[in-house]
Amino acid sequence: MSRYVYDFVEGNKDLKDLLGGKGANLAEMTRMGLPVPAGFTITTAACQQYLHTGSVPAGLFAEVEHHLRLVQTQMDKTFGDAHDPLLLSVRSGGKFSMPGMMETILDIGLNDASVAGLARHSGDERFAWDSYRRLIQMFGKTVFDMPGADFETELAHARDAAGVTNDAELSAAQLRDVVAAYKKVFHAHTGRDFPQAVHEQLFLAITAVFTSWNAERAVLYRRQERIPQDLGTAVNVMAMVFGNRGADSGTGVAFTRDPATGRRGVYGDYLTNAQGEDVVAGIRNTVGLGELSTIDPASYGQLLSVMQRLEQRYRDLCDIEFTIENGKLWMLQTRVGKRTAAAAFVIAAQLVDEGTITLDEALQRVTGEQLAQLMFPSFDLDAAPAPLATGVPASPGAAVGAVVFDSAAAAAATGPVILVRRETNPDDLPGMIAAQGILTSRGGKTSHAAVVARGMGKTCVCGADAIEIGDGTFTVGGLVVRAGDIISLDGTTGRVYPGPVPVRPSPVVRYFEGQLTAHGNPLLSAVERLMIHATHRARLHVHANADTAADAARARRFGATGVGLCRTEHMFLGERRILVERLILASDDAERAEALAALLPLQRADFEDLLAAMDGLPVTIRLIDPPLHEFLPPLEELTARVARAEALGEDPGHDGVLLAAVRRMHEQNPMLGLRGVRLGLVIPGLFAMQIRAVAQAAAARVAAGGDPRPEIMVPLVGAVQELETVRAEALSVLAAVPGAPPIRIGTMIEVPRAALTAGQIAAAAEFFSFGTNDLTQMTWGFSRDDVEGAFFGRYLGLGIFAVSPFETIDPDGVGELVRIAVERGRAARPELTVGVCGEHGGDPASVRFFHTAGLDYVSCSPFRVPIARLEAGRAAATDATGSDSR
Ligand code: PEP
Ligand code: MG
Repeated sequence: MSRYVYDFVEGNKDLKDLLGGKGANLAEMTRMGLPVPAGFTITTAACQQYLHTGSVPAGLFAEVEHHLRLVQTQMDKTFGDAHDPLLLSVRSGGKFSMPGMMETILDIGLNDASVAGLARHSGDERFAWDSYRRLIQMFGKTVFDMPGADFETELAHARDAAGVTNDAELSAAQLRDVVAAYKKVFHAHTGRDFPQAVHEQLFLAITAVFTSWNAERAVLYRRQERIPQDLGTAVNVMAMVFGNRGADSGTGVAFTRDPATGRRGVYGDYLTNAQGEDVVAGIRNTVGLGELSTIDPASYGQLLSVMQRLEQRYRDLCDIEFTIENGKLWMLQTRVGKRTAAAAFVIAAQLVDEGTITLDEALQRVTGEQLAQLMFPSFDLDAAPAPLATGVPASPGAAVGAVVFDSAAAAAATGPVILVRRETNPDDLPGMIAAQGILTSRGGKTSHAAVVARGMGKTCVCGADAIEIGDGTFTVGGLVVRAGDIISLDGTTGRVYPGPVPVRPSPVVRYFEGQLTAHGNPLLSAVERLMIHATHRARLHVHANADTAADAARARRFGATGVGLCRTEHMFLGERRILVERLILASDDAERAEALAALLPLQRADFEDLLAAMDGLPVTIRLIDPPLHEFLPPLEELTARVARAEALGEDPGHDGVLLAAVRRMHEQNPMLGLRGVRLGLVIPGLFAMQIRAVAQAAAARVAAGGDPRPEIMVPLVGAVQELETVRAEALSVLAAVPGAPPIRIGTMIEVPRAALTAGQIAAAAEFFSFGTNDLTQMTWGFSRDDVEGAFFGRYLGLGIFAVSPFETIDPDGVGELVRIAVERGRAARPELTVGVCGEHGGDPASVRFFHTAGLDYVSCSPFRVPIARLEAGRAAATDATGSDSR
């Protein structure tokens, strides 16, 4: 028979798939002998089965009963006891952390009899009734979907009746009345009494946690974080301990290093006389963890030693939730902590220095996405006005946008917005995703807003308590800021500025540019160290997509070892467009030859500059690709101009000629029309001119003492015969240019047929470069110019894919074509060089795919070169160290 329940003493931190992150880590702490309340975990497999069949697995509750008996023995209390009852918390906990997304129910086990027992045993009647009313409230909301307002209204009545403004001022008797009122509300909504049978409470709570896996906000969060939707959550059932039992009790959160900067030290928040949920909700402002050393020195000392042991065990930054009940410390949770991108790099390097992890492991502790975040600009503080307010710098970055006050407005906005809230809760997720930044007036570094924003890499300032949020406005020091006003948020300093503040480049970019040295700067030193190791490790080379010498030079500074794609059509823009127009309009060979002759020197000069910038490294120059009518004015514009001229009785002149040409060249599906290699075969002399320009530029570079390494790449080939024809012409042009170095000729693989016939094509190609933009377009039949805006939102919503296939390579379809082409191409020509130059070449997940598929290089925009270099190194190091240790 399957087993669905594990006592904390039975699990360990490596069982996250089965026990969820929280359960596995509670088990690990229990095994380490740390003070964890007794409890057990119901597995994710039980949840999966529940979600699948709609009912809990047979025998699950009997198993729960068995483990509950063990908890009772350990805690020396009985569940439902009328004298000294054991109370339980029931918490969700999936494999991946989803802060605040699913349900928690506390104080299970209270009923009309045991509430009296709790009052007697704790000596605190008020506390007992307050716990009971919290249970009914949480239970009603979670298990029976009751609106929170039903309970809030009753609580407000009670406050009014008692003439107080704060719940804490309600007496035991008044809270007993609140419980009675809550029970009535409960009955009115559910048609039944609040369950007095404590086991029924427990089973209903467990089932509600299973169900909460599919809550709308949880589904949305997983989609955003790319967490699979079918994992299910584990359920942790644990003996309750109380942080709200007076001044010698409290609850807090601790980090073993600063999750914002990575610095070593004591970081966290503490709240005296409170339950854990009060801290996470950010409803009351906390004190710094350091103050616990005066509030409760013994617990503080014990906590520091626990933190040290956890770091040693997890070999990483840990975050911890703890409670102190009447001076006794209890550990409620730990996990490898989320951190900012900067902290990830700094901590990885520190752990190497401390001898805790190897450099290969350090590479697994950072990601290309994090490096991308560090390459974002920040504010130019010299140009900043006086700040409006300062809050907690919860998630770094520089965000400028118009103020909005609710999630729906943020989600509906078309321009950049800043979501301003008193505090956020999981319902605000859509707005947080849409906003540039988040500003709250309450809560600290561990509030919901802070944790979620950090996870998303989104700028966030929390707890800016000088801000008074009203209805559609906020006021600060007499100044009123309205919805739609622009503000700027500095997530690194916590400052909030009026108006737009200019931004300046990131220090990491300046370091890559060679404008800053890493020396003495912990972040830059860490980046430098990991980049050096990644480069040393990487098997994939990283080239750049660059059309100009300036782009190529920047890419080279960023570590590119070649140009993987020069789109030559970009050299025909601006004032040169007219020359292409002349070529298109040429009515005979002589006119065509004249137009091409005018283009030749311009191309040659461009190529010379590009080859100089990449001297000694390969430069892959692609022959012209787009349909030629892209170089003419649009049909509608010309039609209007000609119609206007005709209406005025004027001669449309040149416009008339152009219109005739555009009409002649019109295609219903230009992306599938006369473009790429087809142009070279249809327009005599066009490719030859470009090839001659490349060869002459290379010869000139050789004559100047350079080491040019150009390669010629033919786009959109679908059949080897196309390539053979262009190749024959190219060879004869190259042979006629004296002094040119050997120039390789290869092809893009962008048409599914090319991938499938790669064995034949390789006979005529010295290299392949996957054009995964077109290959994705043609494999899926998705117009790359239209679909992302048109209906991808719906597709993502339906889970047809978790990310656009134009962003991250689709491994099963497009990726399979890549694998086939590599295999067939190399079988036919073992020395074939294979790369990729579509947008996927700079996407972290795709770089890993290309590493595994055995490519020689990826090519991407200059700005993404460092990201691809890091990912190439990580992919190679993963081969050596196994998968990501987290
Ligand atoms: C591609 O199709 O992936 C490619 C690199 O070519 P382009 O984007 O210029 O069509
Ligand atoms: Mg293409």
